[in-house]
Amino acid sequence: MPSSTTPAAGSATHYARLRDGKSASDATVRLALQGLEISPKGGGARRVWRYDTLRAGEPVRRNTIDVLLSSRSDPGATVFVPGPDFVAALAAYAPQLTERAERWRTARPWLIFVAILFSAIAALYASGWSPAQTIAGFLPESWRQRLGDEARASMTEGYKQCADANGIAALEKMSERLARGAGMEKPFAVTVYDWSLMNAFAVPGGQIVLTRGLIEKAQSPDEVAGVLAHEMGHGIKLHPETGIIRAIGLAAAVELMMGGSSGALANLGLMLAQLGYTRAAEREADAVGLQVLKGAGVAPQGLADFFKRIEEVEGESGDLSKTLRPISILRTHPPTAERAAIVKAQPTYPATPALDAQSWQELKSICSRTITPEKPERDAPAN
Ligand SMILES: [Zn+2]
Repeated sequence: MPSSTTPAAGSATHYARLRDGKSASDATVRLALQGLEISPKGGGARRVWRYDTLRAGEPVRRNTIDVLLSSRSDPGATVFVPGPDFVAALAAYAPQLTERAERWRTARPWLIFVAILFSAIAALYASGWSPAQTIAGFLPESWRQRLGDEARASMTEGYKQCADANGIAALEKMSERLARGAGMEKPFAVTVYDWSLMNAFAVPGGQIVLTRGLIEKAQSPDEVAGVLAHEMGHGIKLHPETGIIRAIGLAAAVELMMGGSSGALANLGLMLAQLGYTRAAEREADAVGLQVLKGAGVAPQGLADFFKRIEEVEGESGDLSKTLRPISILRTHPPTAERAAIVKAQPTYPATPALDAQSWQELKSICSRTITPEKPERDAPAN
């Protein structure tokens, strides 16, 4: 193997066998300063192969006892040299022939590729880029819709949908007003479920779920509008889609869309519920929500009031709330005090109640009629 110092060019000659494509002859080789010197026996032309042009038939290892060499400068010719002494000395002159050099040559392009990839990703992360969020932005609308249908169905399984016509009309009036405020062409699809827990969540595809408990506990239409605006903030920023992709990976998300019979589908809702959002996502939803309220001319105080109310109600409902906490909208939401301060800091603007008194009463009784929700269409399992 290569020694740490290059030995002085030796005068030692070694027996070799030279082939030049047409004939073979015995020869001697010598590790000269300028290269490997090959002198055919019987007086043929002497060749010198520069060390950096040398190629070995196989990488030179510690236990290599002979070597078959060729040179880029002398196509078609090879020289076979037996003897571990020669091989060891050769490795010092032409380290590129060693196994270690060979491994490095093979690995280097990959290492460079990986290094570039890592620094590119690091740079993108540093600039606040989220790969899952970017991918979520490319999901076709129909996929998001389907993902949302599945998530909504599994998160509300066992609960009836509130279907009083006047209540639905009032809710639509409110959500359309907010969507216009957000400059959206398509309003969010908001559904209410006959569920006593106070809850609200956004699922993919611009869908929002509210519970009867939330509507009942709200003291004004502005409070419901505040929660809706916050959840719209999640939807506009694609937080539900991003959470799902981050949790299951893009490949699984695609499989989910294509097949639909994947086992992951059944647990989708539960999974989405357990994901929660990061604090950063919550702040983003608040910020967008406040813009939505402002655009719609609805006072922002309802947002702060209602989250405060949820905290109070959750605090007094004891052990039950602990088991339900994973799907509580409070789980990762910013502290109530922080939200209240942000809302207070908003410059005032002209505002009217989110709904008139009559529509508000109609919304309050949206669960006076309930229906069993339709199951989302699912492809039959392949087997
Ligand atoms: Zn939230």
